[in-house]
Amino acid sequence: MPKYIFVTGGVVSALGKGIASASIGYLLKSRGLSVTLQKCDPYLNVDPGTMSPFQHGEVFVTDDGAETDLDLGHYERFVGKELGRDNNITAGQIYEAVISKERRGDYLGGTVQVIPHVTNEIKERIDKVALSGVDVLITEIGGTVGDIESLPFLEAIRQMRLDKGKENVLFIHLTLVPYIKTAGELKTKPTQHSVRALRDIGIQPDILLCRTERPLTDDLKRKIALFCNVEMSEVIDARDVPSIYEVPLRFHEDGLDEIVLEKLGIDVGPADLGRMESVVEGVTSPSSEVSIAICGKYIDLQDSYKSITEAFAHAGVENDTRVNLVWVDVEDIERAGNAAGALEGCHGVLVPGGFGERGIEGKIASAGFARREGVPYFGICLGLHCAVIEFARNVCGLTAAHSTEFDPDTAYPVIDLLPEQKSVVNMGGTMRLGGYDCHVVEGTTAHDVYGESEVRERHRHRYEYNNEFRSTFESRGLVSSGIHVDADLVEMVELSDHPWFVCCQFHPEFRSRPGVAHPLFREFVRAALTHKTGDDPVSSEHRSSDGSEPLERVAGSNVDGRTRG
Ligand code: GLN
Repeated sequence: MPKYIFVTGGVVSALGKGIASASIGYLLKSRGLSVTLQKCDPYLNVDPGTMSPFQHGEVFVTDDGAETDLDLGHYERFVGKELGRDNNITAGQIYEAVISKERRGDYLGGTVQVIPHVTNEIKERIDKVALSGVDVLITEIGGTVGDIESLPFLEAIRQMRLDKGKENVLFIHLTLVPYIKTAGELKTKPTQHSVRALRDIGIQPDILLCRTERPLTDDLKRKIALFCNVEMSEVIDARDVPSIYEVPLRFHEDGLDEIVLEKLGIDVGPADLGRMESVVEGVTSPSSEVSIAICGKYIDLQDSYKSITEAFAHAGVENDTRVNLVWVDVEDIERAGNAAGALEGCHGVLVPGGFGERGIEGKIASAGFARREGVPYFGICLGLHCAVIEFARNVCGLTAAHSTEFDPDTAYPVIDLLPEQKSVVNMGGTMRLGGYDCHVVEGTTAHDVYGESEVRERHRHRYEYNNEFRSTFESRGLVSSGIHVDADLVEMVELSDHPWFVCCQFHPEFRSRPGVAHPLFREFVRAALTHKTGDDPVSSEHRSSDGSEPLERVAGSNVDGRTRG
C-alpha cells in the first residue's frame, strides 16, 4: 500500500509549491524510499502546450512526449527520476475523459456530476501513479485554496483520506507569513484564513509550510499552531533561501522529513543529503565567474527558460564557476542593427528554443556574431535553425535562405517542416515530442562532449534541418554531428573551424540535474571560461575586421518590414 502526500497552497500563488513538493520528494528519497510526484492543474486546457509564455512559464517535455507543467522539471531534477504523461493531470483532461465516457454510454443512463464522476476520474488518475510500485506519491494541487476551479481536486483528495485510511494520507499546506514593514512584524492572519478555507471544504492540514522572509520564531509557530489546529512541530519554517537547492536542507533542519515519516508510520534510516549539500556549496561559493548571453524575446519572463537556467546552475557547479546569465532582448539587436553592442563582454552566446517570427533576425544576428567572433555558441532547437540560416546566407551565399516557419516561399528552405507535420490540423500535442535516439558522430565536438555515440534526448518542434542542403553545408564546414538514424534527420550541427559552436535540435536542458549537469551545458560553460581567459584557439579569421557587422549584411536580403514589426 503506497502512502499519499497531498500538497496544497494558500494565500497567494507563486510561493514555490512545486519546489516545496520536489524538496519533500528529495528528502524522502534520500532516506531510501521510492518516491514519485504528480501535479494536478485545475485549468481547462488539456495541457500547457498550447499556452503562451505570458500565460504559463516553460513547457516541460517528458521522455514519453507529454507537454507538461514546469513543476515536473523541478520534480525530475530533485528526485532524479524520469516522469511521464500520467504525472501531470489537468481539469481539461479530466473533463475530456468524463465527456467521452458519457458519449460512449459508460454511465448507463446516470446523471453525470462533479461528485462522483469528475472526482472519481481524478482519484483513478492519482491511483494510477500511486499504484505503479512506489512507496510514496506526492501530489501537488495547482492553484490556491479558494479558487473555484480547484474545488473538484480538493474534494477528490478529501475523499482519498477516507478511502485509503488516515495513516496513509497526509495533507501538507504551503502558506504565506508576510512581513509587514510598517508594523515591523510577521503576520499570521493570512495563514489562519487560508487554513480556515481548507477546513471549510473538509481538509484539516497535517503540516504547514510557512513561506516567510524572516525566521519564524517559536512564539509565531505556537500562535499558528493554536489557530490552525496543528502541533507546533508541524509548523515548518519555509524561509527564503538564495538557492532552490537549499530548500530541502532547510526543511530537514526544521524536522520536516521526521514528522512526515512519523505521521505516515514509515520507519527508515537517516537522510543522506551529501549530494545536495555539495551542490549548494558549489552554487554559493564558486571560484570564478563567466557571462553567458541568452538571446530570446521573453527575457522578462524567465520562467519560460526555467530548465535552461537550472542547467546553467548545474553546469556552473561542475566548473566551479558562477554563470551570470545576461538576458538579451533580440528585438534590441534588431533595433540597434547589429549584435556586437548587446553581446559585448559575454563569454558565450545561447539562442534557446522559441516560436514565431518576432525577433528572429536578432537571433540570427546573434549566431552570426558568435560565428565570426569565435565566441562559444550553443544553439538549442530554434537556436540551431538560426545558426543554419545564418551559415547558409553568409557562408554559402544563399542570401535568401530562411526557415519555412518564417518565410514559406523562401528560395532556400534550409529549415523546413517535417514531412509528418504537413498534414497536421490540431495544434495541441502534435509536434515532434519527447525522446528520440541520436547517433553522435565520432571525431566531433559533440562526441567529445558526450563521450558516447548513442544518446537519447527530448524534442519539441515542427521544423527541422533540410537534408537537401546537407552536402553544401558540410562542404563549407558545418559538420553534421548528431543523426536520428531511423529517419535520417540531422539533430546536431557544429562548426569545424570554431572554438566551440554546437547546436542541437533537441532540448538537453530537460535532462540536466543538480550534481549531474548535462554534458552540453557543462562543456559550453567550460568553453566560455576558456574563451574568457583567452586560452581558446581563436584564429584571426574568427575575428571580423570591425567586430560589428551590421544586421543588414548579416541578414542578407531577408530583412524586411515584417521581421522588424
Ligand atoms: N519553432 C521551431 C519549430 O517548431 C522551434 C521550436 C523550438 O525551438 N522548440 O520547429
